[in-house]
Amino acid sequence: MPSIPVVAVVGTGVIGRSWVQVFIRAGCQTRVYDENPDQIEKALTWLEAERAITSLVSVHTNLSDALKGAGYVQESGPEQMEVKKAIYARLDDAAGPDAILGSSTSAYDMSEIASGLSGARRCIVAHPVNPPHVIPVVEILPGTETDPEVVAQTREFMTSVGQTPVLLKRYVPAFLLNRMQAALIREAVSLVESGVADVDAVDAVIRDGLGLRWALMGPFAVADTNADGGIREYFTRYGQAYKNCMDQLGPTPSFDAEMIERLGRGTDAMSGNAPRSETLRWRDRLIRKIRDLKAADPRP
Ligand code: NAD
Repeated sequence: MPSIPVVAVVGTGVIGRSWVQVFIRAGCQTRVYDENPDQIEKALTWLEAERAITSLVSVHTNLSDALKGAGYVQESGPEQMEVKKAIYARLDDAAGPDAILGSSTSAYDMSEIASGLSGARRCIVAHPVNPPHVIPVVEILPGTETDPEVVAQTREFMTSVGQTPVLLKRYVPAFLLNRMQAALIREAVSLVESGVADVDAVDAVIRDGLGLRWALMGPFAVADTNADGGIREYFTRYGQAYKNCMDQLGPTPSFDAEMIERLGRGTDAMSGNAPRSETLRWRDRLIRKIRDLKAADPRP
């Protein structure tokens, strides 16, 4: 049972529509609003293709209507600070006094988004991974003015709709997930740029190497299994080797047009002629199977 029965999703693009599926799957009455009605139509078509229980969805062309009775709002508008601030000002004005205003922002500080709002205490970051209806982690991060009770209620709500909330202790740009992703992508691009390996080889060492373990355990738990004496022995023995390697990792890539084109040719070669939509369906299907396997055979 969801701990908050009526919710609103504001912004129904790639992330918003997937949040709608998370909420209705958990049994929430889900009220949706997007500034662009075409986006709502697209989201409804997508939800029907996902066999979502669309009877739990109500569509609103007016933001205040969409927020009526909602105890939790998931803001999923564009990632631009000025736009986020403008949306939050409208949400704070129109939402009920006890509604929690969660944002899907991938990198911003809620202290800045909610700065000057009378309801800053109920504003919080709830950053998902794409797509949240398939991947459960949600990074939870309060702003400086967020009420600790709002943090607790948001964590409880996310758990009750089947997500896995992870709490950050303080703000850092791009949070945990995108910082670690950026560190890996920086090195991946640098290895291709400097001619060490091609795109497929770099992907293969994740896809058929590190990624298989990472689906089960994070980097610290993996380190704990890489030596008979666990992480203490592992980093005592290999800490210096890691330091030497870290000292000569590649620079920040340029991401210039030529580099992006080179990466694009590499991924085109890997995908052949398969339509991207088919690859997405395959990805979601297999991630679900991995999650089922993990649930049926949990870590000892
Ligand atoms: P998107 O462009 O697909 O969707 C944004 C939606 O917001 C559009 O439908 C747009 O019409 C709507 N919108 C614009 N202005 C609005 C307004 N004033 N009020 C209501 N709706 C408005 O973007 P997205 O990829 O879904 O990203 C949404 C948020 O989720 C961003 O903050 C992004 O950083 C975050 N996010 C994205 C991903 C990802 O991989 N795409 C992952 C995690 C978090």
